[in-house]
Amino acid sequence: MSTPTKYVYAFAEGGRDMAALLGGKGAGLAEMTRLGLPVPPGFTVTTEACKVFLATGEEPPELGIEAARALAGLESEMGRALGAPDDPLLVSVRSGARFSMPGMMETILDIGLNDHSVAGLAKAAGDERFAWDSYRRLVQMFGHTVMGVDGELFENALAAHKARREVSGDHELDSGELMLLTEEYKEIVRRVTGEDFPQDPAEQLARAIRAVFDSWNVERARVYRHREHIPDDLGTAVNVQAMVFGNLGHDSGTGVAFTRDPATGERGVYGDYLPDAQGEDVVAGVRDALPLTELKTLDPRAYVELGDHLRTLENHYRDLCDVEFTVERGRLWILQTRVGKRTAEAAFRIAHDLREERTLDADEALARVDGTALTRLMFPRFDTTPADVPLARGVPASPGAAVGVAVFDSAEAARRAADGEAVVLVRRETTPDDLPGMIAAQAVLTSRGGKTSHAAVVARGMGKVCVCGAEELDVDTGARRFTAASGTVVHDGDMISVDGTAGTVHLGALPLTDSDVGRALETGTATGPLTAAVLDGLAHADAVRRLQVRANADTPEDAARARALGAQGIGLCRTEHMFLGERRELVEAMILAPDDAARAEALAALLPLQRDDFTGILAAMDGLPVTIRLIDPPLHEFLPDRTELAVRLAGSAHPDPHERELLSAVERMHEENPMLGLRGVRLGLAVPGLTAMQVRAVAEAVVRRLRDGGRPRAEIMIPLVGTVEELRLARAETERVLAEVAAETGTPLDCPIGTMIELPRAALTAGRLAEVADFFSFGTNDLTQTTWGLSRDDAEASFFPLYLDKGVFEVSPFETIDEQGVGRLVEMAVEAGRAANPRLETGVCGEHGGDPDSIHFFHRAGLDYVSCSPFRIPAARLEAGRAALTGSAEAGDTR
Ligand code: ADP
Ligand code: MG
Ligand code: MG
Repeated sequence: MSTPTKYVYAFAEGGRDMAALLGGKGAGLAEMTRLGLPVPPGFTVTTEACKVFLATGEEPPELGIEAARALAGLESEMGRALGAPDDPLLVSVRSGARFSMPGMMETILDIGLNDHSVAGLAKAAGDERFAWDSYRRLVQMFGHTVMGVDGELFENALAAHKARREVSGDHELDSGELMLLTEEYKEIVRRVTGEDFPQDPAEQLARAIRAVFDSWNVERARVYRHREHIPDDLGTAVNVQAMVFGNLGHDSGTGVAFTRDPATGERGVYGDYLPDAQGEDVVAGVRDALPLTELKTLDPRAYVELGDHLRTLENHYRDLCDVEFTVERGRLWILQTRVGKRTAEAAFRIAHDLREERTLDADEALARVDGTALTRLMFPRFDTTPADVPLARGVPASPGAAVGVAVFDSAEAARRAADGEAVVLVRRETTPDDLPGMIAAQAVLTSRGGKTSHAAVVARGMGKVCVCGAEELDVDTGARRFTAASGTVVHDGDMISVDGTAGTVHLGALPLTDSDVGRALETGTATGPLTAAVLDGLAHADAVRRLQVRANADTPEDAARARALGAQGIGLCRTEHMFLGERRELVEAMILAPDDAARAEALAALLPLQRDDFTGILAAMDGLPVTIRLIDPPLHEFLPDRTELAVRLAGSAHPDPHERELLSAVERMHEENPMLGLRGVRLGLAVPGLTAMQVRAVAEAVVRRLRDGGRPRAEIMIPLVGTVEELRLARAETERVLAEVAAETGTPLDCPIGTMIELPRAALTAGRLAEVADFFSFGTNDLTQTTWGLSRDDAEASFFPLYLDKGVFEVSPFETIDEQGVGRLVEMAVEAGRAANPRLETGVCGEHGGDPDSIHFFHRAGLDYVSCSPFRIPAARLEAGRAALTGSAEAGDTR
């Protein structure tokens, strides 16, 4: 049969490619050991052992023997025995899963100390105080993490001793005091657990290992895994490592170091150093750490050696590394390394620099950055100082910085924004009713809900700044004010600043700085190392990508902006906004028209307006394709609200006859399910002259552009088609009008006609549709709604958070394409469509067109282009490039 599973690996036996088995920390320790770096020796208990423990409640029987053998090896290598009374070997027990996971058990240092070995340690180190400080730390850590004693009991005892000695730092307690404190700690353990602090070093070790296994399933670890999509069955490894001591006086210390600045990406050595301290003191902020450069004067030899090791590691991992290190009486030890986390800015600069240094090739450098980071760099940001105390903190749901006056209802927000005022919509939580206000606002602030609340999901989709769940705020929408925990009251109209990146809210207008990256992307000119890195990365993405990137844009301004950001055309130009504002009356007239003549008149009034719109957009996108979608939403959306009208009419003594007419129209057109009602192509077929008017407006705009010497490339798109018969009829009407305009103007018109695929039936009959369509554009928003049979607005406002929480969805299918369901329909439709019509063009115009993961899917599905909002175009270009990378450069797991 198979060889028996090996559950314990000495550091020297492992390596970086064994992270699944040894955990990230164990694999790093093994790799450094193999590289010859000064790593205190030790061994790793595998994740497999943990899995057995989690499944059966017991360690695998072989583990005890293997661990004892590994310990014996360690003891002989160190020439000391664990917890021996004279010169004891001490070890640390460190958890370490495949992915770094805050929430797991904290490391236990100094295992092996007991009432006897503490004296041996004192003698061997020649430092009594150090030995007792180590022992009391062990009792404290072990008592808390392994034996479950409330940590506060230890903290209180420590505080009492400091008070008695009238000192403020732990540091200032002498060995006598620490001895007393240790006794007291042991007494606390006894009192709380009914059990003595274990004196047997082997028992200490075995129980600490088991406690690490147990910690895999503690609540906060589960919660973290869930949020980060880390599987629950990976298990954690446990590292047992010989102790080294940074707390042995002034020639000792501990620190963390980065091979480059993780905030900016700048080359150089960065980090913190704390003399005379143990590892966790740096993180805990017991004392203020020194900048790492101070080590140069404190201990030049250790500093130079550390620099060498950092270079070795960076060259080896070919990436930014961070390390934990300790200096014990002038001798340097490396205790941990990993590829370091970094900001978006640092990600771009480091990838770029590593490429310039020839450590990476261009494909590899591209794999190191992503669209989400790029988008983050494009938001304007606040120029804050630490002195700017926020009113409240919440969930940083959608990044960016926004300033505006607080407004407490949606309609008011929309009204004031229309008057040119910058507003922040403040709600307890948002619902689809708040949509107009959210669209109009600079930012959305809520006191309830998390990352998947309606406010968060919708704001992110719109690229709008959002802080949600700021629970310290008492939001009173009735009184139009909110109260901060500090007591500060913010009234309607007061200026506030919302930092969606940090998740904070501030009183007043914080100064904003424009994003250099956003500007550089629009101008194509680099102004510094970061912008150079971004432009460089994008240029390579453009060179390798197969997918084209178009924009969803409805106005000449948006079109121009999108073009500056690299759009290769418009994938979706919605015509319905052209029916709003002052034109609403014309639309009303069309809807209310008593006869064909009246309707024709109303349509004729709309025609020149639409023609102007199209002319402007075609001019902004001259030479590039512009896909214009005929009107899609149900007409009643252009009429006033039924309830409001009814109330107004009921309350008035002399009802306005026009309003009465309106109300009956609204009632006539009322639908229970407008999303599935008279809209899309159905509208064009049902309302005489509507399609003809829109097509004529497009055609005449094309002619006008041609006469002006332009190169207009309009394409006409029929929405919400379910059967080829609908498309045939709509196409015939479209072609008739195109021919008419061509004849009238003597201008040949070549205008592709295609359809949106946004109903499952359309996808399933794509082969037939393709015989009548020049292109398909997947409307994945509606296709997701109709495939899942759910209305997005309703679902996001009600059960979505629950579904995400319960893991029914890992991510919202409206954010990232549901590959198995909706994605499958896309693949089938592309295949059938191409088989029927080899010249068929295919693209995506749903919001998924700007989502990184979805873009990778659309690349694989073989689409010709994705289309997204202008702001997301650079990120889409970047991701389309990354999707085209193959083999080793392909973006791997970045957790
Ligand atoms: P975390 O994953 O929380 O960083 P670590 O296992 O790295 O936990 O340990 C916490 C601290 O203890 C770190 O600063 C680490 O460097 C230090 N440490 C761990 N093992 C040893 C050891 N054998 N000797 C000295 N310090 C150690
Ligand atoms: Mg660590
Ligand atoms: Mg649609």
